[in-house]
Amino acid sequence: MAEVIARCSAGHLFTSTWVPLASFKAVRLGRKRYQRCPVGRHWAMIEQVDPATLSPTELAEAAEHHDSRIP
Ligand SMILES: [Zn+2]
Repeated sequence: MAEVIARCSAGHLFTSTWVPLASFKAVRLGRKRYQRCPVGRHWAMIEQVDPATLSPTELAEAAEHHDSRIP
């Protein structure tokens, strides 16, 4: 498993545990998938984000939210 920063289609940033090989709960489309956003509590397209492209403020925002509570 890997911790990645992800952004939903509404622009929310959060930390997600990305499981490359066993992601039956989400529709897998490469770096994108469809899942529940823990920030806005809605379903959305989620895309992995390269942390190097984010500002410190955005990184802090992403660190505040984690989708680990999703079963
Ligand atoms: Zn969202």
